[in-house]
Amino acid sequence: MVNEVEVIVLRCPNCGALIKREKNKCEYCGAELILTSGGSFSFRFQSVCPSCGNINEKSSWFCVNCKKILTTDIDMLKELQKKEFLMRLKIKYSIPFWMMEKLEDDEFVYHVFSSRIKGEDEFYVVTDKRIMKRYEEVPLGEALSVSKPKFGSSFEVSTLDKDIVFEFDNALDCELFRANVKAAIENHDLKKKDIRVLLSQLQLGQEEKFKKIAMEKEMRFIDDLLKKLLDRYMSIYGNHRLAERKIKSLMKEGLSREKAIRKLAIKEDLIE
Ligand SMILES: [Zn+2]
Ligand SMILES: [Zn+2]
Repeated sequence: MVNEVEVIVLRCPNCGALIKREKNKCEYCGAELILTSGGSFSFRFQSVCPSCGNINEKSSWFCVNCKKILTTDIDMLKELQKKEFLMRLKIKYSIPFWMMEKLEDDEFVYHVFSSRIKGEDEFYVVTDKRIMKRYEEVPLGEALSVSKPKFGSSFEVSTLDKDIVFEFDNALDCELFRANVKAAIENHDLKKKDIRVLLSQLQLGQEEKFKKIAMEKEMRFIDDLLKKLLDRYMSIYGNHRLAERKIKSLMKEGLSREKAIRKLAIKEDLIE
C-alpha cells in the first residue's frame, strides 16, 4: 500500500530559494510574495534595478540579475548575515566530519539530510559542486537526470556510468531533497549561484560602504529640496535671497545645513 502524499514545494519567483507555502516573504532575498490562484508565488510589487534594468520584487535587498545590493539598511544585512552564519553552523554539525573533510573551502552546502534508513545512518548532502550519499558522489556537471519520486519516497540521480538511489522514510523529506538536487543542477548549468552563496559572501564591515551610499542618497535629496525651495521663493518674492537668509539663521541656531534645509522645507509644506 502506497501512501499518496502531495508535497508542494514552492520557489521564490525572485531568487529561486525554496520557501514554505504559508510564508509570504522570502527569507533569503526579502521578496514579498502573494500566492496566486494557480498555486505558485508571484511578486507583490515590482521594481526596476537602477543598475541593469532587471525586474525584481520591490522588497528584495539585492538585484537577482547583477547582484547589486539595493538596500541601505545595514541592520537588515547584518541580520541576514547572522542567519547565514547560523545556518552554516547547523550544517557543519549535521554532516559527519569525514564527509565535511571532502568539501572544498568555498563549497556551499545547500541541503543536508540525515536519518536512519533501513538500519543504517544515512547522510545525503547537496552542495553547489556535487551530490553526496555517504561514500558515493556525483559532481553536478555529470548528473544527467533526476528521476521522479518512486513510491513517493525514493529517487535516482543518473550519470553516464551509474545511478545513485536516494531513499527516505517519508515523501516530504524526499521531495525537499529532490528539489534541492534539481535546483543545484539547474544553478550549476546556468553557472548561477544560489542566493545563499551571495549572502555568505557579504562581508561584515561593509557598513562604511552602505553608509556612503545612504549619505549620497541623502545629499541628492537635499540638493533637490533646496532647488524646490529656491524656486518657490523665486516665484513668490522674485528672488531667493530670503530662503538663503532663513537657512543661514536656522544654521546659527545650531542646525547643520542639511537639517536647516529640511526644516525650512517642512515649514513650507514641501515635505512632511
Ligand atoms: Zn527570494
Ligand atoms: Zn541589476
